[in-house]
Amino acid sequence: MPTQPSDLEIARAARKLPIAAVAHGLGIEPSGLVPYGHDKAKIHYRCLDQLDSRDDGHLILVTAISPTPAGEGKTTTTVGLGDALCKIGRKAMICLREPSLGPCFGMKGGAAGGGYAQVVPMTDINLHFTGDFHAIGAAHNLCSAVIDNHVHWDNTLDIDPRRVTWRRVMDMNDRALREITSGLGGPGNGVPRQTGFDITVASEIMAIFCLATNLEDLRDRIGRIVIGETRDRRPVTVEHLQVAGAMTALLRDAFQPNLVQTLENNPALMHGGPFANIAHGCNSVIATRTALKLADYVVTEAGFGADLGAEKFFDIKCRKAGLRPAAVVLVATTRALKMHGGVSRDDLERENCAALRKGCANLGRHIRNLGHFGVPLIVAINRFTTDTPAEHQVIQSCCEELGVDCVVADHWRNGGAGARELAGRVVERVDSRTAQFRTLYDDDMKLWDKTRHIARSLYGAEDIIADKKVRAQFAALEAAGYGRFPVCMAKTQYSFSTDPLLLGAPSGHDVPIREVRLAAGAEFVVVICGDIMTMPGLPRRPSSETIRVDADREIEGLF
Ligand code: ADP
Ligand code: MG
Repeated sequence: MPTQPSDLEIARAARKLPIAAVAHGLGIEPSGLVPYGHDKAKIHYRCLDQLDSRDDGHLILVTAISPTPAGEGKTTTTVGLGDALCKIGRKAMICLREPSLGPCFGMKGGAAGGGYAQVVPMTDINLHFTGDFHAIGAAHNLCSAVIDNHVHWDNTLDIDPRRVTWRRVMDMNDRALREITSGLGGPGNGVPRQTGFDITVASEIMAIFCLATNLEDLRDRIGRIVIGETRDRRPVTVEHLQVAGAMTALLRDAFQPNLVQTLENNPALMHGGPFANIAHGCNSVIATRTALKLADYVVTEAGFGADLGAEKFFDIKCRKAGLRPAAVVLVATTRALKMHGGVSRDDLERENCAALRKGCANLGRHIRNLGHFGVPLIVAINRFTTDTPAEHQVIQSCCEELGVDCVVADHWRNGGAGARELAGRVVERVDSRTAQFRTLYDDDMKLWDKTRHIARSLYGAEDIIADKKVRAQFAALEAAGYGRFPVCMAKTQYSFSTDPLLLGAPSGHDVPIREVRLAAGAEFVVVICGDIMTMPGLPRRPSSETIRVDADREIEGLF
């Protein structure tokens, strides 16, 4: 079999349309666009305002089995399915997260899809794009500066410098900044305190940016962020610091969704990109809503596996934004399922139906889990060139036993044409209007009970456990009036348990809860089970060693 060009080579060879032409196809006039060069644009508020009265299209979620280093291809499948829907004559578009710079220079792996299912311009998207993350970082850091400034002058709010939880952010993997002491150098430089940096995608501003429904909502949510406590332990908010207006001003332009295109010239919105652990891990509500007004079928992706990504998509994003998804596509690969069945990474190329059958336990658990949400489900096997027909048959039999549709999709090699069958099946399920979307739990369930319900019904856990201090945090949040918030689970994505090495479908385990954090502006309570890294580091040989600009001024070495 001939080898396929690299993602970067394919992306560079793309025959892009001017972005105004892509917008024209959606019925967007030039005055409704804010072009960023020739192949990227924001959709202007002027256009967004006019869409309100239109009917909504159908929302389709792409999620996956528990991730392994073998790769699953959610983004690739989102793009491939979007292109395939267009190919079979449907008016479709896709919605994705914007990538962070951090992982670009760390491990290889883009965020714009792969093979012949990509969004372009790929290098721009991966490097700065339209500057949204810089704006989000600036808004976050403005608040940090105002906090230290307030303490430096009169500290009329009586902020306790030891209890400021609001850190600083930057869009880079930089472990040296995780813990720092700021304000050194004498009284002129402020009050020394221990603090640190997170990566921008971990900022609560990013989560808010992706959940806010309009600029006023954005401003109000920013105002409600709790940045720390006073000396007598009362919460201090951004509103108290009177900086919500200025932070919103920094975000005004960024808050308009970004329009790009797929390799097949179909429209794609990429907007916002919150972490999938301490936040909910999906693109902005404003982008999803815009897409639903512009197209009949909207395909979107949630981060991590379905136990985390899809759960949060449904229980946080859809609950809060009033979205009603019409179908779910669960991506599986033979490689990842073989790993769940015990095969090592070096042995994945070899056919191994026995291990695959064993690994299908992971797929089966995700299939049953997704049944809780009442949305029709289709399993997509994202085909790798080393797959064998016998292996596909194993996955198909597993799905048959569970009464679920299963389709092999070959978009990575063949673009939209490779996912025609998948698209046809999705349209069938969507158009039959069988979806009866429901969230997993009700708002009025206690925070502790919400967490336990997720752990038991999705993770196969026996119970959740926490020491007295953490239980007191749950109680304090209920007492402070945050009990109706959804919970945002921060757990390893590699396992249903909290042990990343426990693959397959473990059950009967306890889920230990280490910490609970309030995100008052994002309107969820983060329940942390295990180590959560909010400022990643670079590996020993970061990919920054190979990225460069060549003699033709093209960027080389990105993926
Ligand atoms: P996810 O969104 O699940 O993290 P991506 O869609 O970004 O995964 O894909 C991760 C990587 O795997 C990309 O580099 C992509 O090119 C590659 N990939 C995806 N699908 C295939 C496939 N069918 N064959 C080979 N490589 C693939
Ligand atoms: Mg992805």
